[in-house]
Amino acid sequence: MSFPDRSNPYGFNDFLEWRSKVDFYADDPFIQKAVKYYVGENWQAIDREAREISKKVSFRWSKMAEAIAWPEKRPYMMHYDGHRNRIDRIVRPHETEVMEKEIFSEALFSSRTSPWLKLLKMYLIYQNGEACVACPITCTEGMVAILERYADNPELKRILEHCKEGIDGEFAIGAQYISEIQGGSDIPSNLLEAVKEDDHWRLYGTKFFCSATHADYSMVTAKPQGSEKVALFVVPSWLPGNKEKEIRNGYTIDRIKWKMGTSELTTGELTFNGAVAYEVGPLDKGVANVVGIVLSYSRLTVGLSAAAFMTRAVREATRYVQFREAFGLKIGNFPLVMGQLQDIQKSARRTTAGAFKLYRSVIEQGGLGNASRQGQTLEEKKEAFNIRELIMLQKIAASYDSTDVIRIAMSLFGGHGIMEDFSVLPRLYRDSAVNELWEGPRNVLLMQIHRDLQKASEWYKPEEFVRNILAGGNPEVVDKLAAEMAEIIAYPNLLQADEETIRMSMRWDKICHEFSHTYQDLALAEVEKD
Ligand SMILES: Cc1cc2nc3c(=O)[nH]c(=O)nc-3n(C[C@H](O)[C@H](O)[C@H](O)COP(=O)(O)OP(=O)(O)OC[C@H]3O[C@@H](n4cnc5c(N)ncnc54)[C@H](O)[C@@H]3O)c2cc1C
Repeated sequence: MSFPDRSNPYGFNDFLEWRSKVDFYADDPFIQKAVKYYVGENWQAIDREAREISKKVSFRWSKMAEAIAWPEKRPYMMHYDGHRNRIDRIVRPHETEVMEKEIFSEALFSSRTSPWLKLLKMYLIYQNGEACVACPITCTEGMVAILERYADNPELKRILEHCKEGIDGEFAIGAQYISEIQGGSDIPSNLLEAVKEDDHWRLYGTKFFCSATHADYSMVTAKPQGSEKVALFVVPSWLPGNKEKEIRNGYTIDRIKWKMGTSELTTGELTFNGAVAYEVGPLDKGVANVVGIVLSYSRLTVGLSAAAFMTRAVREATRYVQFREAFGLKIGNFPLVMGQLQDIQKSARRTTAGAFKLYRSVIEQGGLGNASRQGQTLEEKKEAFNIRELIMLQKIAASYDSTDVIRIAMSLFGGHGIMEDFSVLPRLYRDSAVNELWEGPRNVLLMQIHRDLQKASEWYKPEEFVRNILAGGNPEVVDKLAAEMAEIIAYPNLLQADEETIRMSMRWDKICHEFSHTYQDLALAEVEKD
């Protein structure tokens, strides 16, 4: 019961006060535990460095990320300067440029940054969900990995140095342009043409989804003239000396897209008209390299950023329900709310633990550029296969769960949950929907995993694959998953449009999700029992 009060004193200050002081790493005992468990010997050094960067992420970059999320601050294009020169300038808010410089100066991909430190930094940065910096981080990671393997001429070596170690204190930014208007998933259907002219490759045609359009370099897929095979190229956005003059390297940015999520990031539609390009790796291995290295890094990051988004959303919802009252009770005391919170907390933790466990395997393998090598033993080949499939499985499950978790967290804020200026949750929610789609939508990855397991089954039976990955798990669950996976893999293909194939496909979707959760649950149990 309450009497009227015309000067209603209600306010959110206590909650806001708490939020302004939260340190994403120092105030999160779970992530500290996960670091201690997965990093192993050197965990104290990583822990120390994580505490340092966390202050910048939690108190400086988080404010910048919020400031640039306002619609008035969206990036826009200037196609021409005042003298009718075509410049295609991406105009971004000052805060974005400052934050990008500060984050890239962390030298994430330098040989002096250990893989674990890179991971921790990325995980913390992703809690701000600011795509204009977050997306090119992973694109640059993929570019560094592919160039480490293939940079064999002065131009590519300089690009690698620029991305990895910086040149004169400037760290270059990478992008990846693969999707075309007729298909994003179907890379072999690319039509962009590469023509060899005077010792240089030049690109002609269009790309339809080009994020991080402000990048210094992009990895671009194209078919060499007369070939049906897709090759991979690196394209500088400006040729040496032309960045200051704003003369782009033989391409135009025709428009930038109006998107539901990742709005601080531009996604452009491009026409190439003779852009100078450098081939990367064998010309007939473009698809394998783009999928096996470039997209695999991006997919790993989708899993990690989903964990980061969920962690932030759950943390804020947990505190909010301790602050807010309804019907005379803190809402966090209603059993329905308690149950929902327990569910989303579990999802956030298992996704984080799963991402760390998978990343440990990637580190042990020496990165993704090292997945297939001459002279590999059968055991190494199987481990590389496990990692490849787990990256896709994680991408599917983590991005899907993240959208659900953030939606539930938003619902715990009631109507305030969907207010863009109340919390970052609506922005994370919209970005999470994008995470489900880019870098391989769910169906495409499910089909790929099915095909991969079928192809590998001569040397790696699906049952063995399941048992190896879920070693130490509940035997009943593992047996059931192994039997069902084997049954669906034995089904000839998931392409026939009949009722039986539809039923099998839906079972495949469900079991892949369950399999990913079982892997993540195992990872979580390992952290919690430590
Ligand atoms: C915000 C945003 C930014 C992006 N930025 C970039 C970028 O920087 N660079 C880049 O290269 N791309 C980028 N993309 C493109 C993205 O990678 C593609 O959208 C994605 O690969 C899917 O391609 P598509 O949109 O052509 O969908 P389609 O390939 O047409 O797929 C449509 C539907 O069909 C399903 N489908 C397709 N094939 C199969 C199959 N074999 N079996 C079953 N179902 C199938 C898909 O799962 C999906 O549900 C971006 C996308 C978004 C949303």
